[in-house]
Amino acid sequence: MVETVLDAPCPVCGKRTLVYRAEELELPYFGKCLQTTIICKNCGYRHADVMMLDVHEPMSYELKIEDVRDLNIKVVRSTSGTIEIPEIGAKIEPGPLSEAFITTIEGVLNRIVDVLVQLMHNTPELRERINEVLRKIGYIRHGRMKATLILKDPLGNSAIISDRVKRRKLSEEEIKELKLGEITYEIRR
Ligand SMILES: [Zn+2]
Repeated sequence: MVETVLDAPCPVCGKRTLVYRAEELELPYFGKCLQTTIICKNCGYRHADVMMLDVHEPMSYELKIEDVRDLNIKVVRSTSGTIEIPEIGAKIEPGPLSEAFITTIEGVLNRIVDVLVQLMHNTPELRERINEVLRKIGYIRHGRMKATLILKDPLGNSAIISDRVKRRKLSEEEIKELKLGEITYEIRR
């Protein structure tokens, strides 16, 4: 791991206490990736990203979640990646606040649950709809419902690490459709 002290003010506290960390990881089927993190040692501000070193094309990955064992499949989502699970209407889009993560399918589901619980708190009128989605997520986590995880990245820095994943290049139209909004959860009304 490489750690460097940056000569730049922290975007949150303004102090010159930022460090940059870079770590190279070897991913099965994808080769090397570089995980980078900027951390403020004063206030704890953190920004993480991930870059594939061997893949550079706009890619789409699609995986059917069919079994509890699939929950352990690793997902690499860079700040330019969009995640969708159409069966539950979930979409995690890139944006200024979005963080890169390397997690498992279970970790992705947990992040969606966090967003939904927050959403339920802010918009009580959507409570029933949200409960319905939370129930579906419960079924997926117990292997009782099949779902599709789609991960699209116009910069090719995201991936689903499995030999069962369907991978293909994104078309020009698909690249144009990918938004650069904030992390949103669109609930169908
Ligand atoms: Zn700071």
